[in-house]
Amino acid sequence: MTKRIFNFNAGPAALPLEVLSEIQTEFLDFKGSGMSITEVSHRSSWFDEVINDAVLRVKRLLNLGEGHEVLFLQGGASLQFSMVPMNLLPDDQVADYVNTGSWSVKAIREAQVLGKKVRVAASSEDRDFNYIPKNVDFHADAAYVHITSNNTIRGTQWKSFPNTGDVPLISDMSSDIMGRTLDVAPFGLIYAGAQKNLGPSGVTLVIIRRDMLERVPDTLPTMLKYTTFAAKNSMFNTPPCFAIYALGLVLKWLDEKVGGISRIEEINQQKAGLLYSYLDESDFYRGTAEEEDRSTMNVTFRLTNESLEETFIAEALANGLGGLKGHRSVGGCRASIYNATTLEAVQALVSFMADFERRYG
Ligand SMILES: *Cc1c(COP(=O)(O)O)cnc(C)c1O
Repeated sequence: MTKRIFNFNAGPAALPLEVLSEIQTEFLDFKGSGMSITEVSHRSSWFDEVINDAVLRVKRLLNLGEGHEVLFLQGGASLQFSMVPMNLLPDDQVADYVNTGSWSVKAIREAQVLGKKVRVAASSEDRDFNYIPKNVDFHADAAYVHITSNNTIRGTQWKSFPNTGDVPLISDMSSDIMGRTLDVAPFGLIYAGAQKNLGPSGVTLVIIRRDMLERVPDTLPTMLKYTTFAAKNSMFNTPPCFAIYALGLVLKWLDEKVGGISRIEEINQQKAGLLYSYLDESDFYRGTAEEEDRSTMNVTFRLTNESLEETFIAEALANGLGGLKGHRSVGGCRASIYNATTLEAVQALVSFMADFERRYG
């Protein structure tokens, strides 16, 4: 018997069991090709179908029209910290960034490394990034406004997006893309490393509004230009074939098995609600994010007696609940409950937490 744990990893993270089984079933002979998906040519009709289906599913799930390009890139979300300003921020213009934690800090730093002009339009650093700034000082002349929609490490999430008028919003959505309904209209570009909510690591989803492609300077290296990949259906060079294939299966699962994003949003709210209401009731545990801004994807918490945290994490793992350690930069505990984490897993976690509280409280 294969042993599976309840997986609360922040990323790479849990994948739907149905998807893993499907990969296993067709791993040695992909669609009658007599080859594994890891062995077929990216120029074959087999792979063409895989990538086209993945693009279509992204478009369908997010209601994208003809105005958007869907790209599958490499280099992780981290390369987007550089590609976004390289491609979309001319040297004589300024971009507004909102600083809501480590990933925003890195995005800002990479723009600055390039010598670009960056304005920090708002920050939640004053209270240890435990909230989302409400009054953001946007400038109408900004080339774009960059935000991190969900802060994986601090457990905060933008519940509604700022109105930036004609200035395009750009968001790092690595840890909540497809976890809730989304109106893409205000966004010039959205990016997400796949390994949180979409699939395995190795591919980054980029959704770019077509008019943004006009900003891309000719002088950039070919491999760093959005236009290169937009012109070639993400296949200018060999794409991360396996990761795109697996991402496509996750989206098929979301679309056909779950019933789409509005359904998964309900389930995610139920999961997060269960966990947060337990944290709120208990004096033994406490959530670290401000209530109105807390994430439905990454639930960060501390034990009131912090010296018990190590035991809590170790005992949880011994009970089949993995990945509950907080990010190394902040400590504490974190349960990442992305789309593929089931309600059953969250119920098991809450009942373990209650048991632990009884024994050590
Ligand atoms: C994980 C994460 C990243 C980094 O992703 P890589 O693909 O490892 O570069 C960036 N932003 C957010 C919000 C993340 O959660």
